[in-house]
Amino acid sequence: MTVQPKTHPRSGHRRGGKKRHRPKLAPGSRLSQAQVDEIFARFEAFDPHPKTELNYSDPFTLLVAVVLSAQATDSSVNRATPELFRIASTPEKLAALSEAELTDKIKTIGIYRNKAKNLIALAKKLVEQHRGNVPNTREALEALPGVGRKTANVVLNVAFGEPTIGIDTHAFRVANRTGLAPGKTPLEVELTLNRIVPERYKHYAHHWLILHGRYVCKARTPECWRCIISDICLYKPKTPAPVA
Ligand code: SF4
Repeated sequence: MTVQPKTHPRSGHRRGGKKRHRPKLAPGSRLSQAQVDEIFARFEAFDPHPKTELNYSDPFTLLVAVVLSAQATDSSVNRATPELFRIASTPEKLAALSEAELTDKIKTIGIYRNKAKNLIALAKKLVEQHRGNVPNTREALEALPGVGRKTANVVLNVAFGEPTIGIDTHAFRVANRTGLAPGKTPLEVELTLNRIVPERYKHYAHHWLILHGRYVCKARTPECWRCIISDICLYKPKTPAPVA
């Protein structure tokens, strides 16, 4: 009769000296590197070329739309920007608007007064310091009024093709719930993702995480029953399918 070696109840070692095999976790993650790779392979298979849902036509209109989207939905921004871009599609034209005129165009978007102030200052700075162009470095972008790290990451990624990962509220939630990149701050999550997301997936990583959080891994009730990564995700308990 063959006797299987038994595991010591506390040490996890097999009697006889052999260790139980546990896959090594990716640095900063609660998942193994193979699980991280698998998550992004599934995102890619599901949606090979994800796009931002903000409407824009060039780096400048993208930058304005991303600034406007802070603490607001993309759809609320998309409802306001056609009329705004009709009269102010360049930094020169935006800089020429009065604060009252701009406020009137964006008043349906959250924290619009602050955004109007920032956007006019931003447009003036682009004209005065960047010849009316959107700069393509993080340092120069983050020096613009109303532009933080997330906005800079999105502009660098979408307008200039950099493999940056912008962490908004959706990406932050997905990274934490799944165990992919747990962190107390968006920066912590971003730095972990930069370390563990394979290079080939980095360009689209932030879109996949944002879209997954917006449509499936929703804030109040994640729709785990139809989630393509639910077998890997560490979140518990998983939400069951609604009863018909
Ligand atoms: S299984 Fe649920 S909690 Fe986990 S990523 Fe999917 S929707 Fe989110």
